[in-house]
Amino acid sequence: MRIDIITLFPEMCDTVLSESVIGRARKKGAVELECHQLRDFAFDKHKRVDDSTYGGGMGMLMMAEPIALCFEDLCEKLGKRPHFIYMSPKGRVLTQQRVRELAQIDNIAVLCGHYEGVDQRVLDELVDEEISIGDFVLTGGELPALVLADSVSRMIPGVLSDDLCFEDESHFDGLLEYPQYTKPAVWRGKEVPEVLLSGHHANIEKWRRENSLLETARLRPDMLKNAELTEKDKIFLKSKGII
Ligand code: SAM
Repeated sequence: MRIDIITLFPEMCDTVLSESVIGRARKKGAVELECHQLRDFAFDKHKRVDDSTYGGGMGMLMMAEPIALCFEDLCEKLGKRPHFIYMSPKGRVLTQQRVRELAQIDNIAVLCGHYEGVDQRVLDELVDEEISIGDFVLTGGELPALVLADSVSRMIPGVLSDDLCFEDESHFDGLLEYPQYTKPAVWRGKEVPEVLLSGHHANIEKWRRENSLLETARLRPDMLKNAELTEKDKIFLKSKGII
């Protein structure tokens, strides 16, 4: 899979994407992540990519043409048109479900806005989807694009050390992950739950499932409504007076 990020701050994105798990995955070729300087597609000598808004107002808006030229150049280089996403506080809020769907797409291009955002005509003519990372406003689309690139990349086979390890994690199956512990077994008088030291796999699995349900009920009770619960899960939650 390949993700291309169109931004005014390619170094910022590239630095983050060169570190840790994603950086290693890039190096071994499990995922391709490329950052493009939008200013390279400005057409005046000052390399301007923004201008004032029609109708008045304080802010500046990113112009349509440099974005269109950059995207068209990318399409030509790739030999195909990538799925084009604009990171925007107006977009649909990103979920793990959407992350999993996006990870099935071979080529994604991500546009990072700045200032007041981008000319609406780019969104109407070129962009396939607007995605938000939450109901708040940031100064630019770079952090949201990095959130998207990281969350999608880690779904690609070969990116994580164990491809199945994300299946137990929060949100994968509509629940939050169970609590986890590492050494020492006793820390400041607090003990790790005994069952986790028992080596009894079936009991450990049962404890993890039940505590995943309890953690979800405690921290995100709204998620329980949509989670796929087994009959055993329901009996357990009833016994705890949760449903
Ligand atoms: N004027 C825009 C509005 O009210 O909807 C906000 C523009 S914001 C200051 C600048 C850029 O940051 C946006 O173009 C977008 O790319 C990015 N951005 C800000 N908040 C975001 C969010 N919650 N999710 C995704 N992108 C965001």
